[in-house]
Amino acid sequence: MRNPSRRQFLQAGAAAAGAAALARSLPAWASTAASVSVVPPLSVFGYSQVQLLDGPFRRQFDQNHDLFLHLDEDALLKPFRQRMGMTAPGPDMGGWYDNATDFTPMENFHGFIPGHSFGQYLSGLSRAYAVTGSKPTQEKIHRLVRAYAQTVDADGKFYVDYCLPAYTYDKTSCGLIDAHEFAACPDALDVHWRSTQAVLPHLPPKALSRLEQRARPHKDISFTFDETYTLPENLFLAYQRSGDSRYRDLAVRFIEKEYFDPLAEDHNVLPGEHAYSHVNAFSSAMQAYLVLGEEKYLRAATNGFRMVREQSYATGGWGPDEAFVVPGQGLMEASLGGTHSSFETVCGAYGHFKITRYLLRVTKDSRYGDSMERVLYNTIGGALPILPDGTSFYYADYNNSARKVHYKDKWPCCSGTFPQLAADYGISSYYSSKDGIYVNLFLPSRVSWSQNNTKCTLTQTTAYPKANTTQLDFALSSPESFAVYVRIPAWAGAKTTLSVNGRRTDNPVVPGKFLALQRTWKDGDRVELEMDMSLHLEAIDEQSPYRVALMYGPLALFAVGEIPARMTRAQMLAATRVPGSSNDWLVRTDAGNLTFRPFSSIMSEEYRLYQRVEG
Ligand SMILES: [Zn+2]
Repeated sequence: MRNPSRRQFLQAGAAAAGAAALARSLPAWASTAASVSVVPPLSVFGYSQVQLLDGPFRRQFDQNHDLFLHLDEDALLKPFRQRMGMTAPGPDMGGWYDNATDFTPMENFHGFIPGHSFGQYLSGLSRAYAVTGSKPTQEKIHRLVRAYAQTVDADGKFYVDYCLPAYTYDKTSCGLIDAHEFAACPDALDVHWRSTQAVLPHLPPKALSRLEQRARPHKDISFTFDETYTLPENLFLAYQRSGDSRYRDLAVRFIEKEYFDPLAEDHNVLPGEHAYSHVNAFSSAMQAYLVLGEEKYLRAATNGFRMVREQSYATGGWGPDEAFVVPGQGLMEASLGGTHSSFETVCGAYGHFKITRYLLRVTKDSRYGDSMERVLYNTIGGALPILPDGTSFYYADYNNSARKVHYKDKWPCCSGTFPQLAADYGISSYYSSKDGIYVNLFLPSRVSWSQNNTKCTLTQTTAYPKANTTQLDFALSSPESFAVYVRIPAWAGAKTTLSVNGRRTDNPVVPGKFLALQRTWKDGDRVELEMDMSLHLEAIDEQSPYRVALMYGPLALFAVGEIPARMTRAQMLAATRVPGSSNDWLVRTDAGNLTFRPFSSIMSEEYRLYQRVEG
């Protein structure tokens, strides 16, 4: 992700002054400027331009930033140093991260993927530095990259007899290009090139599905879990950030055509596939579309994402037991009794946010923002924080008897995506276009930008979704004409209103669209959105209309405590809010009152998302 001026600058790489400046900042091997074929109409802001203000999501970001800023650097580097035969001081991290010998597929995950998430921690810190400007964070990133560089050799000794080389390289790649892009790390691109050379002898000639991996000789099942099909996104980004076309060629080599070609033709090839990594792969399709300009990759991502949405839970989560199901067979309903591993929350939300950002930027379709907020409030917003010893939240449980628990192994994949995801909340909230700004997420936050030459700041104040309102206050250095586009959620009712400086707008308020406010904005202007939020029921799938979740606007409400044997639709829809500061709702059933609450309010109590209803 980059800001528009930089993207346009790269695209216009032929401009003499630009090309000279670019060449000076690149190492000798990067001789050509990158070009992209498609510039989306919407751009993300720079990380430093959007600040989250106090609220649960700012706290989540701060917690992650603080935890990773204080991680022991020798411990982080230990698996790399050990596998290279170097002196490796410091404690073992534990869990998936260690270079251990007792890993046994499907039984003991200690030492599953040594060092797998190093690059994600580096990426999370780099983005956190870009948000906060914290010098200690930047210094740690630079130290880590320098020390990691010493463990990289030309033959890729680290990857010898390593079960997921593409997986770990992909994360390391992301960390290094982010350290370069967001933390001004002088060595990062050079180390990235060397890391790429190190892994190449250990990668197959093309992206391989799990089925294809199983058909090849393999030491054990873990050697069939690699995710070569997610490589193109970061390789395309490496190409754009370095200007080295060899990264583009590598990205093209790992595009999984066997996956994207049928998706582009609207054939559902998702069932049985690993959920998170295949949603993550949609972002590779989007980069292929942007860089190569081939429409079919946009169609693949759009269709694929729609197929995921069609088999999502009411929370926006997907992929019971980390897999997609065959649609039309009631298998989502079956999962409510069959598993407690309902949604790989942190990685899933990270992948979901990435693909919805791409699709929103390209299509300007506000429903991708709706999808983002549903995942935000119902899944990751209720994730337990990572503990200092690496104990992490992983699965949300939508079983008929469910509890919120930490994952059994320390430092899993979800500990890698959490700091990245939390740093991205700001850039997911607003987008810039040629003619103005898009307000996508309703989070307490502040965005600053230049519209023509006017300095603009928009401060958003809200307690949404607990409250149904949000307020946008503008500070401008001088009056300026531009458009403010506000997302009107598709679920919003007919009484939704939007006003400017206390006066209702004449523009029609259409749910499922961005509402455009074009005017000359001046210092002190205020926009207020009041959303008509109501209770409604959502069935788990078409085959099971009697198994429903209670929703309030975008918010899924979970029943807690003793679940009565009988409940009706009318009783659920007559739920009333518990007065005061609580987030609870009460449903009056024949057997007494039943409490409902959002996922973020659930602690250790047993809960149920889907209720069986009569009537
Ligand atoms: Zn995960």
